Amino acid sequence: MIYDLIIKNANIVDGSEAPAFAGGLAVKDGKIATLWHGEMPEDMQAAETLDAKGLTLSPGFIDIHCHSDETFYNYPTVDSKILQGVTTDVGGNCGISLAPLKQKNKELLRSYVGDAPYAWESFGEFLDYVEKEVRPSNNFTCGVGHGAIRIAAMGFEPRQATAAEMADMKAMLASSLDEGAAFFSSGLIYAPGCYADEAELTELSKVAAAKGAFYATHMRNENLHIFDALPEAIRIAENSGASLQISHHKLIRREMWGRSTETLQLIEDARARGVDAWADQYPYIASSTYYASNLPNWAYEGGVAALIERIKDPVTRRKILDDMEAACGGRWGDIFLGFAPAEEDKKYIGKSTEEIADMMGLPCAEAALSIVERNGNDASEVNFGMCEEDVERIMQAPFVMTGSDGWAYGLDYPGKPHPRSYGAFPRVLGHYCRERGLFPLETAVYKMTGLPAKRLGFTDRGLLKEGNWADLCLFDPATIKDDPTYLDPCKPCSGLARVYVNGVLTAKDGKHTGARSGQVIRR
Ligand SMILES: [Zn+2]
Repeated sequence: MIYDLIIKNANIVDGSEAPAFAGGLAVKDGKIATLWHGEMPEDMQAAETLDAKGLTLSPGFIDIHCHSDETFYNYPTVDSKILQGVTTDVGGNCGISLAPLKQKNKELLRSYVGDAPYAWESFGEFLDYVEKEVRPSNNFTCGVGHGAIRIAAMGFEPRQATAAEMADMKAMLASSLDEGAAFFSSGLIYAPGCYADEAELTELSKVAAAKGAFYATHMRNENLHIFDALPEAIRIAENSGASLQISHHKLIRREMWGRSTETLQLIEDARARGVDAWADQYPYIASSTYYASNLPNWAYEGGVAALIERIKDPVTRRKILDDMEAACGGRWGDIFLGFAPAEEDKKYIGKSTEEIADMMGLPCAEAALSIVERNGNDASEVNFGMCEEDVERIMQAPFVMTGSDGWAYGLDYPGKPHPRSYGAFPRVLGHYCRERGLFPLETAVYKMTGLPAKRLGFTDRGLLKEGNWADLCLFDPATIKDDPTYLDPCKPCSGLARVYVNGVLTAKDGKHTGARSGQVIRR
């Protein structure tokens, strides 16, 4: 047989956490046709043969927690992800998905998730659209978000669901899972997810459990009240029977620093009781979300447009400002504007809210509110609230895997977004594995390939083995580095020689080839 590609003399880290070995593999028709230890067998031929001496060959990285489905319509080559070695993106996290959609609530969903074609209603139609129209450069699978389901059923109503609405939500969740949604997610700091009580989430998680899908949650709180929020998440899993994924586990605010010993213990205790609990994490001390998340949730009643209207009333405005100050706890200097589309706010991108307030001559909360007034949910923030000690401790837990929590962007993205979108995976390999020595390379790779693949039920990705799809990363473990920084985020990572998606060369030495060979993966 003439193979399409042979990679020989590589240091193979196969994604299973087994010790690395010298060897190579051959690719035919997008799949790993054969794999060997040591010297290449004689008489093998290929259209291209690559001598990988000095380089490590691993499975392509699986980004179990990202938001590419919010942005890849404009960036189908998903450069930010490809150029850090991500060959499979997993969207639909934090309760935020773009389906299911009811046309009557389309504008509400748009104000929640952002601009997109919305040329679908059911989850299956959404996946079809991605497959036929977006055709991203990497593989894509997606969870179904509680926020989207709740908006479809009852808009931004800040109350319990009625029995009829509950039945509607359950039916939408069940059909989304049947049509290929990878899991069920919630985002309980955001409206309308925050309006759901534990009983609603437990009922819905039962539907997920019955379908064999896990429940991923951006918990109700990740700072002062995390010891209420984490037990709630665990109870929902325990009482519904669903497997649990704690999303982007972290502790925000100085008062909570160091207490990851306790959060990890709570997860371990749950596991010991038989709860199938896992977590993911991005490797940074800053978080990132909507800049509008600095406003109180009650202000979102009726949606973002209703919020903007509400701000105009002076009494309500004062109450919003007071709540913003209280929630922020004097941390405005740590909260930076990542992006804002309004022309007059462009000059504030990359600056802290304190600096912005100085430039505007306003108190911090007023300055922040004025940005939300002009940009709604389209402005983003970068928020420095964690400590390295917690980041490193969480990363080392055996039930924690790597995710970026990032978006699909190009190198020409016009803001200063959180560098996680461009550099999360090389940061774990370079900084945390090589420089900090937190774990061996085999463990680092496992946390971004074999482990998330197992979690997602993939049987033909995430491991280098014969018959699997040839999603591959070839990198130099001595030099791989997260060059994207907070000040200069929109750039490729160095040390990553080649990235293949389904056997197709998609990046070479930091440059995208333009290939778009990703597949849509339905559960
Ligand atoms: Zn989240």
